[in-house]
Amino acid sequence: MPALPLAVSTSLLPPLHLQNPLHFRPDLISLCGAVRFFNNMGHADMMSDFLRQCGGVAVIDGGFATELERHGADLNDPLWSAKCLLTSPDLIRRVHLDYLEAGADIILTASYQATIQGFKNQGYSVEQGENMLRKSVELAREARDIYYTRCQEAPIKDSTGDKILKQHQILVAASVGSYGAHLADGSEYSGDYGDAMNLEFLKDFHRKRVKVLADAGPDLIAFETVPNRLEAQVDSDAFAMLLEEENINIPAWLSFNSKDGINVVSGDSITECVAAAESSNKVVAVGINCTPPRFIRDLVLSIKKVTSKPILIYPNSGESYDADIKQWVQHTGVSDKDFASYVNKWCEAGASLVGGCCRTTPHTIRSIYGTLSCKSADPSLVFEAPRLQPSEG
Ligand SMILES: [Zn+2]
Repeated sequence: MPALPLAVSTSLLPPLHLQNPLHFRPDLISLCGAVRFFNNMGHADMMSDFLRQCGGVAVIDGGFATELERHGADLNDPLWSAKCLLTSPDLIRRVHLDYLEAGADIILTASYQATIQGFKNQGYSVEQGENMLRKSVELAREARDIYYTRCQEAPIKDSTGDKILKQHQILVAASVGSYGAHLADGSEYSGDYGDAMNLEFLKDFHRKRVKVLADAGPDLIAFETVPNRLEAQVDSDAFAMLLEEENINIPAWLSFNSKDGINVVSGDSITECVAAAESSNKVVAVGINCTPPRFIRDLVLSIKKVTSKPILIYPNSGESYDADIKQWVQHTGVSDKDFASYVNKWCEAGASLVGGCCRTTPHTIRSIYGTLSCKSADPSLVFEAPRLQPSEG
């Protein structure tokens, strides 16, 4: 087993099940003897501190829907992975645990395709739809609790068998798929929402879902597979506005997708999309997901030029997706070994959160974890966020 990427003394931390990483508790503050620092800590500083605890680079989990399918779930449904919230919650919890025990520091909820409108279209009430959104966060938190218990029962700084058991905090990120994901017609891979689309419509689409998810208590909101600049503006704007209106103290990340390694899938410039999020202090990381590994390095280098935020990446396996038959084309991607061989290059280019998207598995995440563990002693990989003034957090 690779060495644990510990960058903090665990003796300073409260019991794992009491840690809620992005909402530090007063007893943790006094334990650490850093009252002023934590009291003044904004979202950006919290993320920076979390990355430090992870050894400089955090591991995000891997493909969720494809992993559910691997366990036998039938996702040929407009609700896609969200269907399992209704039919197989145990399976969702199990996949979360598989990723945690493979080395993930951050797990994403099964809510990518879960929308109130989507559930309504399938005959469910608004209340049932909202319950499913809450359920997605609860399942991830339950999996984390089980994992924490296993970690506490395990010897300190050790892993048992093939399970990677850590002594630091884990984040639950509530996944919010783009508007195109809700349409279930592949338009999150074209970014084409039609000429009639506008900011207000997209804001209304996201607002209620994000509020329900935020109220369920995740550590982060993860806007994923954002395909165009319009939705980037909407997500950072609507999210910041929502947080102000509802007094919600949860940060977010924004992640775009690309099919040419230069622009996002709509053809909008990646740097303009990232810049749209740069002004929001609520957005604590920006990056790329569901994009072939071969494009990632250049995209990270482009993003780095226009952001001061940590850069996240969770590429897909590189396999092609055939939208007509709604299937991934076998043997067109990279192996787990090849995927992991890219990781150091991505981190050297500037990425500080690394995981996998569609068709990656717990094996892929374990390979990423192994690669990063070897690198965790390298101080050049530790992200140093610029210090914000307290009022900016
Ligand atoms: Zn994906």
